[in-house]
Amino acid sequence: MLTGKIAVVTGASRGIGKAIALKLAEEGATVIVNYNGSEDKALEVKREIEKAGGRAAVYRCDVSDFEKCGTFISDVIREHGRIDILVNNAGITRDGLLMKMSEEDFDKVLDTNLKGAFHTIRFASRQMLKQRSGRIINMASVVGVTGNAGQGNYAASKAGIIGLTKAAARELSSRGVTVNAIAPGFIETDMTKDLPEKVKEASALQIPLGKFGQVRHVAAAAAFLASEDAEYITGQVLCVDGGMAM
Ligand code: NAP
Repeated sequence: MLTGKIAVVTGASRGIGKAIALKLAEEGATVIVNYNGSEDKALEVKREIEKAGGRAAVYRCDVSDFEKCGTFISDVIREHGRIDILVNNAGITRDGLLMKMSEEDFDKVLDTNLKGAFHTIRFASRQMLKQRSGRIINMASVVGVTGNAGQGNYAASKAGIIGLTKAAARELSSRGVTVNAIAPGFIETDMTKDLPEKVKEASALQIPLGKFGQVRHVAAAAAFLASEDAEYITGQVLCVDGGMAM
C-alpha cells in the first residue's frame, strides 16, 4: 500500500498517465495530477480519484520548460511536504521519416519526452535524497529498445530515457532512491488510436501475445515499481509489451 505517500504523475490528464494516477490513488497515495493542455480532463481525473475516496491535486506545467518544472516541483514540496514517487509519463509523438523531419519536430519530441524527465528529476531528486527514499519511474517505449522507422525523434527520446534512468539510478541509489523505466509496447490510448487500421493489424502481428495492451497493464507495472516490494530493483527497464522486445 502507498498510504501517506505523495506521488507526482506527469501527463496524467489522459491515457497511461491517467491510469497510473488512478491506480496509485487506489493504493493510498495522494496524487499530483500534472497536465499541460487538457485542464478539464485533469480536473476530471481529480474528481474520479476523490469520488473513489482518494486524494489528488491538479498542477499545470509544461514539462519541456526547465524553469516551470522548478516552480512546479518546489510548489508541490511546499504544499505537500515531500515527494515519494515521481512518474515521468508525459510524452508526445511527431512521426515522420528522418529525411523529411523538421528540426522543430525533432526538438519538440526530445524537449518533452527526454528533457521533461531530466527537468523533474533535476528538481525532485534533491528532496528524495534528503528524505533518503524515493521512487522514480520513467516512461520509455519498446521503440527506444528496438527503433522504429518513421519515429527517429521518438525512438531517440525513449532510448535517451533508458540511459537517463540508468545514470540516475547510479547517482541516487546510495540514499535509497530507485530509478526504473517502463517500456510499453502498443497500448490503446489517444497516441495510438489514429494509427491506420492496416498499421494496427501489421503491428499486432509483431506482438507475441497478439494484441494491443491496455493502460491498466502499464499502471500495474508502475504501482509495483512504486511499492515497497520493489525496493531492491533499480536501473531496470520493464517491458510491458506483449513480448515484442524480447
Ligand atoms: P496520450 O494519451 O497522448 O497522453 C499524453 C499525456 O502527456 C497527456 O496527459 C498530455 O497532457 C501529456 N503531455 C504532453 N505534453 C506535455 C507537456 N509538455 N507537459 C506536460 N504534460 C504533457 O499518451 P499515452 O499513450 O498515454 O502515452 C503516455 C506515455 O507512454 C508517453 O511517454 C508515451 O511516449 C509512452 N508510451 C505510450 C505507448 C502507447 O502505445 N500508447 C507506447 C509506449 C510508450 P495534456 O493533454 O494535458 O497536454
